[in-house]
This record gives sequence, C-alpha cells and structure tokens, in this order.
Amino acid sequence: MMTPMTDAALLIPGSWLGMIGGGQLGRMFCHSAQSLGYKVAVLDPDTQSPAGAVADLHICAAYDDAQALVRLGELCQAVSTEFENVPAQSLLTLAQYTRVTPSGDAVGIVQDRIREKAFISQAGVPVAPYAAIESLDDLQAADSALFPGILKTARFGYDGKGQARVADRDQALAAFKEFGSQACVLEALQPLKSEISVVLARGLDDQVKTFPCARNEHRDGILAVSTVSAQFQDDAMSEQARQAAAAIARTLDYVGVLCVEFFILEDGRWLANEVAPRPHNSGHYTMNACVTSQFEQQARVMAALPLGDTQALCPSMMLNILGDIWFDAQGQMREPDWAALLAVPGVSLHLYGKTEARAGRKMGHVNIVGESDQQVRERTARAATALHIAFDHD
Ligand code: ATP
Ligand code: MG
Repeated sequence: MMTPMTDAALLIPGSWLGMIGGGQLGRMFCHSAQSLGYKVAVLDPDTQSPAGAVADLHICAAYDDAQALVRLGELCQAVSTEFENVPAQSLLTLAQYTRVTPSGDAVGIVQDRIREKAFISQAGVPVAPYAAIESLDDLQAADSALFPGILKTARFGYDGKGQARVADRDQALAAFKEFGSQACVLEALQPLKSEISVVLARGLDDQVKTFPCARNEHRDGILAVSTVSAQFQDDAMSEQARQAAAAIARTLDYVGVLCVEFFILEDGRWLANEVAPRPHNSGHYTMNACVTSQFEQQARVMAALPLGDTQALCPSMMLNILGDIWFDAQGQMREPDWAALLAVPGVSLHLYGKTEARAGRKMGHVNIVGESDQQVRERTARAATALHIAFDHD
C-alpha cells in the first residue's frame, strides 16, 4: 500500500522549493518557507497573483505549460501545490524532474469525488450515503433513500459551486442536465449539527502529525468562522476525527499537508465529507495559535525536515475577510477600519495583497487568540464589529 521514502534527501535552507498556484495559500507558504531560509518559485498564470508578488521567482505561465514545468522542475528540488484543481498530469510530469508532494496520483483521486469517497470508505471512515451518477440511467436507478439530497459535480467544485440541493428525482434529473451531464455524486442530505475539520501533514517517512480540530461555520457556502476552543480539544470526537484523517492520508499514500472536512450529525454520528489536498482555510489559525503553522509544515514536508509541533498554545478563532466589507450598505466603497481592528488585543491580521475587492472574494483573515474560550469570543466579537462582519456567538 505504501512506499515511504525513508531515505529522502533533506534540502538545506537556500534550496529552491516550487509551488504550483499563486493564491493566498501559496503566498502564506512563501512567507513560511522563506523564513526557514528557502527560496520559492511560484507557477501561476496571473501577473498579479498574491504568491507571485512575494515569491523569489514568479514563473508566469499556465499550470500545464510544458516549458514552464521543465523550468520549475529543473530549478526546484521539491515542488508542491496550493491549488485543488491543479492538473494532476502536471504533477506527474514534474515528478520526472524533481520531488513532488503530494503525488499526481493522490491529487487525482481527491479531485474526483467518486474516487475520493471510495478511498475514504476504504480507510474505514464513514461517508454520507451516495451514488456515483455518470448517466441519466444511474440517476433513474439511484436509491430513493438518497432524496432529499445534494447533487455535486465529481470535479471542479469549490466553495459550494457545482452543487444543487434536490428534493426528488425530477429535480436531480434537471440539475444533472444543468451541469451538462458531467459525472456527479448524489449524496443524501444529512442533518448537520456542526462541521469540523482536521489539517494534517504526512512526511516522506510516513510520519503523520495532525493539528487540533477546528469547528467551522459557513455563510453562503464560504467558510466564515473557525473556532479552536480549549474545551473541544479534549473531546472524544476530536480525537476520532484526527485518527480518521490520519487513516485517510495513509490510505491515499498522501505526502504533504491535507485537510479532511467532517460532518457531525444531530444524532451524534459523524462522517467525512471531503479531502482538500493542500493547506486549508480552516487551518489558518495555526499561524498564530500553534508552534508550527500549516504552511511551515508544508515546507518541512517538502524539505524532508522533521514535522513541527502541532500543539495549540491557546484557544483561537479565525474570521475570514471577504471583499464585501469594502462596501457600505449603499454599495459605496470604503476602506475597512484596520486601526479599530488592530486595537483589539489578541488579534493578528493577514491580508493577501489582492488589489480588487469583490463580494465573496477571500481578501484576508483575522486570527484571534486569548487565554480562555470566553476571552477569545469576546475579542472576536470586537474584531467583527470593527470590520462590520456579522458575528452572533453566545
Ligand atoms: P468547500 O470548497 O467550501 O469545501 P465544496 O464546494 O467542496 O465546498 P462541500 O464541502 O462538499 O463542497 O459542501 C459545501 C457545504 O455544503 C458543506 O460544508 C455543508 O455545509 C453542505 N453540505 C455538503 N454536503 C452535504 C450533505 N450531504 N448534507 C448536508 N449538508 C451538506
Ligand atoms: Mg467542503
């Protein structure tokens, strides 16, 4: 099942690390890798990309540009990705030149919800009842117990895109046609009590370290708030989720940082929703609350260094900053009140350097730490007020 590369060469600081994808995850990776002394080359077609702006080298080309891949592969002693929909073939091509983590094979599985669910199940981790839908016939034959359900395209979904809630088979047929009859999964709608996630890293030597579980709240299909409370860390559920995530990483023979999203159901059962083959928005709290951040961990895996300490030093919350807060109730542009935000104790601001604020666009996040869950909540409420972000915690 596994082929751990125990003799993987350690890359000394000063070596070049490569990143496919120039978004905010790549940017925060650059900062971490650079502070460990590495040089980073970013491949991204956008001249204005957040990571390209801070990388030591920005190769401005398509993710599947053959010449750019050769250049990246020849320059860098290790390459990773921050972008879920990176062409798996690009990772396979790069592997002819350099060390690539995660592998194109592992990413290829996770990019396809049908194969992803099969692997999660194979790891012994429960998933929602589902059926693979590759044709109208599959949908006609699907178990009626899957309704009401959610039809999700097997590939290229994110932030709730490529999904339709369907009350019955007729609605599912209509949604399937709307998606252009591409392969989908039909999942039974689950009664969710809450959503949690686990970020972990698996090294080239098969060592696995999980970060503490985050509890996640979404707004309009986009992560809004993550909470890593002191209380929740001792929870049996949290321990089970961390073990399940580690089992999934090993079953995928996944090397690198990944995130597993879980649903906790109203009756207390839990199941895995999906895997992201990269650092995750719900793991941003690690930048200020943990000894090692998820981005430093990604650099450590690439360089074959020992994985860092994943312990949380204190409770924390993370608020996402979307482009919406650059607009007032009348739709007029305004600058968010950063001074008011930064006057709140325990607050760290992370902005991604994106020039254009748009509704729903992830512009940055705020991490809030404190000595107790209650103190963190109070500070987060103040931070949210300063930025005009809705926040209604008890
Ligand atoms: P993201 O990029 O935000 O992770 P995504 O497009 O990959 O989103 P999912 O994570 O599968 O999609 O689903 C988005 C959200 O929809 C989930 O976080 C959850 O709130 C809800 N959801 C998804 N599947 C189910 C389900 N089977 N039952 C109930 N709610 C669901
Ligand atoms: Mg998701």
